[in-house]
Amino acid sequence: MSVFDTVLAVDWSAAKRKPPRESKDAIWLGVARGGVAEQQIYCRSRQEAEAWISSFLEQEQAARRRVLAAFDFPFGYPRGFARRITGSDDPFALWHWLEERIEDAEDGSNNRFDVASEMNRLFAGTGPFWGKPHQARWPDIPYRKAGIAYTDVPERRRADLAAKAASSCFQLFFNPTVGSQVLMGLPVLQRLRLRHKAAVWPFENIAAAQIVFAEIWPGLIEPAVKAAMAASGPEEIRDRVQMRLLSQALSRLPADELSEMLAAVPEEAQEEAWILGTGHDDRLNALAWDKPGGLTPPPLSNDCFALPAGVDWTPVDDALALLRDRLGPVTGAETVPLADALGRVLAEDAAAKRANPPLPNTAVDGYGFAGGRAEGPHVLPLVPGRAAAGVPFGGTVPEGSAVRVLTGAALPDGVDTVILEEDVNTDGSRIAFNGPLKQGANTRKAGEDVCAGERILPAGRVITPADLALASATGLARLTVRLPLRVGVLSTGDELVEAGEPAGKGQIFDANRPMLLALIRQLGFVPVDLGKAADDREALRAHLDGAAAQTDVILTSGGASAGDEDHMSALLREAGAMQEWRIALKPGRPLALGMWQGTPVFGLPGNPVAALVCTLIFARPAMGLMAGAGWQEPQAFEVPAGFEKRKKPGRREYLRARVRDGRAEVFKSEGSGRISGLSWAEGLVELGDGAAEIKPGDPVRFLPYGSFSM
Ligand code: AMP
Ligand code: MG
Repeated sequence: MSVFDTVLAVDWSAAKRKPPRESKDAIWLGVARGGVAEQQIYCRSRQEAEAWISSFLEQEQAARRRVLAAFDFPFGYPRGFARRITGSDDPFALWHWLEERIEDAEDGSNNRFDVASEMNRLFAGTGPFWGKPHQARWPDIPYRKAGIAYTDVPERRRADLAAKAASSCFQLFFNPTVGSQVLMGLPVLQRLRLRHKAAVWPFENIAAAQIVFAEIWPGLIEPAVKAAMAASGPEEIRDRVQMRLLSQALSRLPADELSEMLAAVPEEAQEEAWILGTGHDDRLNALAWDKPGGLTPPPLSNDCFALPAGVDWTPVDDALALLRDRLGPVTGAETVPLADALGRVLAEDAAAKRANPPLPNTAVDGYGFAGGRAEGPHVLPLVPGRAAAGVPFGGTVPEGSAVRVLTGAALPDGVDTVILEEDVNTDGSRIAFNGPLKQGANTRKAGEDVCAGERILPAGRVITPADLALASATGLARLTVRLPLRVGVLSTGDELVEAGEPAGKGQIFDANRPMLLALIRQLGFVPVDLGKAADDREALRAHLDGAAAQTDVILTSGGASAGDEDHMSALLREAGAMQEWRIALKPGRPLALGMWQGTPVFGLPGNPVAALVCTLIFARPAMGLMAGAGWQEPQAFEVPAGFEKRKKPGRREYLRARVRDGRAEVFKSEGSGRISGLSWAEGLVELGDGAAEIKPGDPVRFLPYGSFSM
């Protein structure tokens, strides 16, 4: 988790006082803790925002929480500017200079254009500040940029260039503008930093500071904002969404990644400041990721796990068919470079940009000429030069002549047939060989592998290394893939302690959570460790609330039955979204399936053997659908049994098994608490729902763990 307990994100504004009703282009604040955006605050004026931030920082300080306060305007100006205004390179001298001059009234009217005029007068020629609401007022500020030379001071900071920021801090008017926000923001920051002893990144050492100010730019997470806006509809206020996602993303940054971002600062930043997260857009967008609600993709309904009424024990296949029917993708999409696409789920069909091969070429080293040759000896004169891969032959090969060609070379004009070098004698100026040779021999046609525009990979495909070769060869540098499914794993039970902790009498080490988290990772999803919850309804409720906000699916184990301490099922029932799954399956007690605040919950049995089997059989294919990868059946093999077993009708059984000497062996005990058997096994033997009497040598269905990608 983050090195900061609290993240405050601030969307500043230079506008006039805003109406009481929440509106756009106002100041919006976002607060996130522990990876969850807790609230967004609307401020009508800068005074209101400053007062709110100040009392918030005070409260956080009193609670000894470490705060990252991120503001969306430049903390510094391009190099050389501060010295011209204040006589010093120290950016704080400029903050102080502005704080002494800027006047800001409650209604939002202010003197920023007068102060900018004063600064412009300190420079020869026009500028650097430009842009104003009235063409005639403030003669020291040009209305348009044309004619400003930016020789004394660059127009943009290195940070703006690196982050591809849209606007210069010298532009005071016309959208997109940030210049006025800087003038109206830095005086506030100057007061806040002194009042709360904040350390300002990257000007100051932040290691020991409880409150850190950093510059951010919401443009870095524009794709995530766009996706969230598309999902929430036109009524939603963009600034609110930006601050929600930004606070969330920063708060979700693991400590080492945040430290890396804070450390990666060029020298100019000591004066010009730097934008936190520059160059890490993709990562921030992934973290900012917000569960889509409303329009996209179709939300799962509270009763999506309802089983057919009146059935006492539902057959496994019926339960699977139901999952398959009712679940679908729940994750958004992003476009990533090929290097980041391995193992991701393709969100849309990918089509070849270019044919493979792009041009007709030779498949072998040899000699090229036009047309086939009949049976018998042939002698052809050689033209000078050659064609090699990437180095085409410039001219045209005359009819009846041959040219040297190397594997992969585009066929020269006048060549459509190639003879293998091993089949040729040459004296350097002629070649001799024996026919017959077919026209087109040893050549590859353009597009013989893939035509331009052809679908090369279907939506839902989990990208393999070979797919990357295909995408690259056909001219694709990026693929649109789904955001990885985030799967939370929670263990429940008063008896559980973590491995490595002291365990009292009656306590056991949590086996399910490490197993399930690792499995989730192997399946290509993002594991989210939700820790463990005691057998206490309120504690569990709090856990689920926090979990629902940051995951797409939650797997819990324990407490899924209907007993006194089975709080998982009780809570889901209370939420009106509980389906007790009584599946005709061994091992496996009832499962509690349900929705918690829109997030599907698989309440697995506590027994590790049952927990794993139920995850592999039910949760895995369900998660595949939600991740956008479609329904995935495990590959089964028929092998002769190496064991004997009588099975009663009514329940499908999964036995821990492995194959030795071509036969399926099963673990010596079927006890569902025998974790050693899970580890001993290399797969499961599946025995059908009916009765069976299995003798050594009878064929049985073996499902290797590998078939489940485990
Ligand atoms: P429950 O489903 O909560 O009744 O638990 C069934 C059995 O599984 C009990 O013996 C629990 O102690 C055990 N159990 C529950 N959760 C875990 C876990 N995370 N790791 C190992 N054993 C567990
Ligand atoms: Mg329990």
